[in-house]
Amino acid sequence: MTELQTRFTTEGLVIKEMSVGESDRLVTLFTRDYGIIKAFAPGVKSVKSKRAPATALLTYSSFSIQKRGDIYRIYEASPITAFFTLDGDIAVITICQYFCELAGEFGESGNPNTELLRLILNSLHFLVKEKRQPELIKAITELRVAVISGYMPDLVACPVCGKFEDDVMYFSLRDGSLRCKDCPKGNDEVAVDRTLLSALRHISFSQLGKLYSFEIPVESARRLSKITSGYLTMQTEHRFSALEFYNNYVLSE
Ligand SMILES: [Zn+2]
Repeated sequence: MTELQTRFTTEGLVIKEMSVGESDRLVTLFTRDYGIIKAFAPGVKSVKSKRAPATALLTYSSFSIQKRGDIYRIYEASPITAFFTLDGDIAVITICQYFCELAGEFGESGNPNTELLRLILNSLHFLVKEKRQPELIKAITELRVAVISGYMPDLVACPVCGKFEDDVMYFSLRDGSLRCKDCPKGNDEVAVDRTLLSALRHISFSQLGKLYSFEIPVESARRLSKITSGYLTMQTEHRFSALEFYNNYVLSE
């Protein structure tokens, strides 16, 4: 009896790569049609391999894949866009790795999540190609990943008195709600000024096409990025190693 073999094509982003033996690579792909797939890329470490560039980390490629039992093998691949950066900026490199980690954590195998994939691809584009403020792109991505994954904050108004905005409002990392300065608070709120509140609202509510179309001062982006990573990690109860590296080593430089 022969095992069932199927062949299919899809596009996907390489979010993880690992060497296997002398010449092969095991890659994790975040694909457009099938979600997360782990696949072998045979022979790609040979200098003559045509598939090598397309199976490198942070490359969005088109793949022809053969499935046999539970094993996936890439037999053809051609790169569409490569998002690696050559200027050696450690903040940008770490945030790229963090985005791959987010894709791997919130993507699912066998289940496409095109909204998440488009977010990650857009964020990589604005971070690496457009060289936008890394902290801002990180913050946008974190909060939007939370929204897509079912952790939409309630940013409409203070739910106790209905106040819409003030010079300072308070945002709860634990339940994602707002409080004004006069209403009772818990102990997990962070202060947000008007700039931060309107950024949080924009990221939560805007369409993808307009998501990245705002700028805030560097100091505000830094504070926003602390709030969004705090919110994402508290809501999902997950630790992200690239984020910890970023907080412990990149920010303190
Ligand atoms: Zn209030």
